[in-house]
Amino acid sequence: MESFEVIIIGSGFAGICAAIKLKKQGINNFIILERETELGGTWWRNNYPGAAVDVVSTLYSLSFEPYNWSRLYAKQPEILNYTKNIIKKYDLNAHAKTKANVTLARYDENSSQWRVTIESGQEYSAPILINAIGHLSQPVIPDIPGINNFKGKYFHTAKWDHSYDYKEKRIGIIGTGASSIQVVPAIADSVNELHVFQRTPHWIVPRHDRTLNTFEKTIQKIPLFNRLKRALIYWKNETRILAFQYFPKLMQLIAEKEAVHHLHNQVPEKTLQEELTPDYTIGCKRILISDEYYPALQKDNVFLETSGIQEIKEDGIRLKNGKEITLDCLVFATGFHAFTSNKCLPFDIIGTDGISLKQEWQNKAHAFVGVTVPGFPNLFNINGPNTGIGHTSAIFMTEAQVEYIISSIQYIKNHNISSVTIKPEVEQQYNDYLQRAFKNSVWVKGGCNSWYQTTEGENTTIFPSFTFLFKLRARKFNPKEHLLID
Ligand code: NAP
Repeated sequence: MESFEVIIIGSGFAGICAAIKLKKQGINNFIILERETELGGTWWRNNYPGAAVDVVSTLYSLSFEPYNWSRLYAKQPEILNYTKNIIKKYDLNAHAKTKANVTLARYDENSSQWRVTIESGQEYSAPILINAIGHLSQPVIPDIPGINNFKGKYFHTAKWDHSYDYKEKRIGIIGTGASSIQVVPAIADSVNELHVFQRTPHWIVPRHDRTLNTFEKTIQKIPLFNRLKRALIYWKNETRILAFQYFPKLMQLIAEKEAVHHLHNQVPEKTLQEELTPDYTIGCKRILISDEYYPALQKDNVFLETSGIQEIKEDGIRLKNGKEITLDCLVFATGFHAFTSNKCLPFDIIGTDGISLKQEWQNKAHAFVGVTVPGFPNLFNINGPNTGIGHTSAIFMTEAQVEYIISSIQYIKNHNISSVTIKPEVEQQYNDYLQRAFKNSVWVKGGCNSWYQTTEGENTTIFPSFTFLFKLRARKFNPKEHLLID
């Protein structure tokens, strides 16, 4: 067994951010376990055609690592390049073990150590475990009747098979969420036929993406101006939460109006317009941004299928209206297991008294500021339950959680204690506050089914308020809120 001071599982922005902050604290005895063949997480894994970020890149980046972005919304290769530069700058490969698929993490109370097992059987131990596996890393392949009968090629957007040549083929794509609306315009011109299987239409607003001009590129190289630009984008985005949380009517008056105008402007044909018009308030599901999706749907070889899937057959799909569609390849753009169930955890985590995180999270996941869970000493999740956001950069939330983790580790070291665990009543109060905050929000009142909510209607994925409030609540370790074990 190899021993470390800290084990980090996962190497996306969360794992990378935690690793850098550990190094800045002088903690170098840590290992990053990554199941893939390279570091990079989401932006390494999600490399489907058209993949790009939908938050302005100036803000969708680590606050302490600015970058000379080429465009407003960076595409996946540029984000991966940014990540690779950071990995190199902080020499993180030296701390990493790739192809290390974790199968179990168990806390040993006698030694106050986390023991982490990977698929090969190799074990690692450390007193502190940072679980940075990401909240959208377990792809959903839905249980559609006949799914195992399909004889053609199929894969999930998060596992795009680049060895498959989709050109001149008949492709079906199931789902019309954030990933699908990027894939569709990216491949539409190359394929023979593209059938887009829509269960629910999503609200889409204009993206207005473009390359940055020389002046903007110069500005972003000057740290003071870049920080100012970030701050302006941040505060502009934050104002949106007023509508999301308190005044869903405002969502209809402002954002929905813009989305309707966008749809009507780009899709003149009435039947298609109707098929693409959602029946819930904008914001209830994630708001999508695209200037290319609607035009792509109107190409001669692209077909929006709205009748619902009856079954998947050997050679294609039969719709509920009886129509049969022959396909060479089926792409599942069907999203990820989120914190609405324990399926978001690819392995179990066992805390004190044999308590299992998979069991704890069986019906709904819960944590204090998405990070700590009662019964799991020195376990720090990043981007855990209720840390998702729909109005600004997820990286802001990640950095706030890492501040809490680093301040906890500092406390453990400075006070020479073996572990800290969040008190159950503190976690409960925090979660009660969250559910109160959701009460009048668009996520609850908007009239949609979304992956944000459990089947009982509780939202376990989104942080329902201003992100600066989250940061204020999360950033400082408060010993009074934790059980401290010597
Ligand atoms: P998603 O937004 O959850 O969309 C999944 C799609 O699959 C939905 O249209 C859903 O329909 C459909 N679907 C699921 N199960 C189905 C079934 N059994 N039959 C038919 N349709 C089914 O997933 P995603 O597009 O992968 O995006 C997930 C999240 O990843 C996003 O919300 C975002 O947070 C993140 N993301 C971000 C970016 C970006 O920054 N640009 C890009 C991609 C993804 P219903 O709506 O009816 O459920």
